Parts: sequence; C-alpha cells; structure tokens
Amino acid sequence: MSIDALPPLRQVIAAHDLSARKSLGQNFLLDLNLTAKIARQAGDLTECDVLEIGPGPGGLTRGLLSEGARRVLAIEKDARCQPALNEIAEAYPNRLTVVIGDALKVDPLQHLTPPIRVAANLPYNVGTELLVRWLTPDTWPPFWQSLTLMFQREVAERIVATPGSKAYGRLALLAQWRAEPRIVMHLPPEAFSPPPKVSSAVVHLTALPQPRYPAQPKLLERVVAMAFNQRRKMLRAALKGLAPDIEDRLIASGIQPTDRAETIGLEQFCALARTLE
Ligand code: SAM
Repeated sequence: MSIDALPPLRQVIAAHDLSARKSLGQNFLLDLNLTAKIARQAGDLTECDVLEIGPGPGGLTRGLLSEGARRVLAIEKDARCQPALNEIAEAYPNRLTVVIGDALKVDPLQHLTPPIRVAANLPYNVGTELLVRWLTPDTWPPFWQSLTLMFQREVAERIVATPGSKAYGRLALLAQWRAEPRIVMHLPPEAFSPPPKVSSAVVHLTALPQPRYPAQPKLLERVVAMAFNQRRKMLRAALKGLAPDIEDRLIASGIQPTDRAETIGLEQFCALARTLE
C-alpha cells in the first residue's frame, strides 16, 4: 500500500519520462516505505519547515509530507521533474513549494519559516559542498535544527570519524565542532534506480546550541585545512606557515610538535586556533 493516494514512483517516472541522468547524480529511491523511513530519521516534522534538495520524482518529498512536515521547500535543478512535483503539491495543498534551480545558487531562506530541518537524498557531486556550507555559516546557531542527508558510505564515515582513523579529517572536525553527527541508516546500491556503484548511508546531524569548544571559525578552519593538507607530515612542518613560533603554540595547546594531524582531537585543534587570535 502506498503512503499516499498518488501513483507508484515507477509509474510517475514513466508518465513524465524521467529517465535518470548521470550528469545530475540521479539515482532515485522508488520504495515509498523506505523514503518514509528516511523522513522519520529527521525527527518530528509536524512543527517544522523542511528544506529538501534534489527531490527528483519526489519519493522523499512524499515521505516528508506523509510524515507530517508543516511545509516542504524542494529545490530541484532538473526542470523535467516539475510536473511530477506539481502533482504532489496538489495532493498536499499549501504544503509543498517547488523551486526549479541550482541549490548552490538559490537562497532557501526567503521561502522558509523557522524552525527548519533539512532532509535530502543529495546529488553526490554537490552534497559535500552543501554540507560544508551549512556547517560554516558566519553565525551560530545556523538556520537549521538538523540535517538528515544521504551520502556515499565513505563520505558518511568521514563525517563521524574519530581521531586515529583513516577517515578522520576536516569534514569530521567541521561536523563535530558545532553539531552531533550520527549514521542512522545504511543503504545498499540496489535501494536506488539505477543502482550507484557504491553503498550509501544516511547521516543525521543535530545543531548544538553552541560550539563544543570556543574558537574563531575562520582560524579553526585554517588550522584544520593546513594540518590535513599534509596529513602525513609532523604538525610542526605542516603548520610552519601559520606562525614563526608554531612549536611553542602547539605545546601550549597540548600537542607535541612531532604529532600528526590525524591523532589530534577537536579540543586541541580549538586550543591551537585560540593561540592564533
Ligand atoms: N530525492 C530523489 C530521490 O531520493 O529519489 C532524487 C535523488 S538523486 C540522488 C539527486 C537529485 O538532485 C536529482 O533529482 C538531481 O536532478 C538533483 N540535483 C542535482 N544537482 C542539483 C543541484 N545543484 N541543485 C538541485 N538539485 C540538484
């Protein structure tokens, strides 16, 4: 049984000739029970506006609406999807706004009222760029309460990675400094049509009211970017360009100058950024 009175997604795709385009990262979810399950990972949506990027034929959009989202703003680059999304908007009056455009260029905030949650089966090519953007606004807390996002499994693992692991790096530190990320679902390639080459995972990130440790965002980003740009080097070499007395600053932050970036925790990176203020 469908989660709503609309036709099954295979029928929608056939009716509107939505053959998947690789250039747009189109791997569609066709199982509405699965999209409703992903929507539930986003938490209680009944009091929230939801920003969805890349709705495609609307599987996750239907999940979000059937799970009670107050309103959904769906930004889709592929204009071919508009008629299919219009049918969903008609089935859920005044609850779905569709914007055809590039999510990297459209400002969603003029269409949304807080509290806002973000939920998306992101196009892989723009997914990481949007995540970094949402994690690095000029002021905190951000416009969103939570992000529930599909990624390639390998990217999801980088977001939740801890020091000492190969996946640990800039993405983990940015995500964990001011948010709480968790992998909440794993999906095999066969969950999508057409199936991608790799497995996927859904990551749920909750915005913390304030950063875990104080630091100026731009300084922390700079320190972390430099440290992981040359992750195999000792930090005294990798961070040489930051300050002439970098060794003293490392020691003052509880870091051995001979340590490598992948063994250093968030608290120490924040301490190091503070010595540069
Ligand atoms: N959400 C749908 C689902 O779960 O079946 C589709 C997911 S598909 C992985 C990614 C979607 O993002 C496609 O519909 C694609 O057209 C759209 N897309 C790609 N680049 C985009 C961009 N820059 N801005 C907005 N949408 C984009």
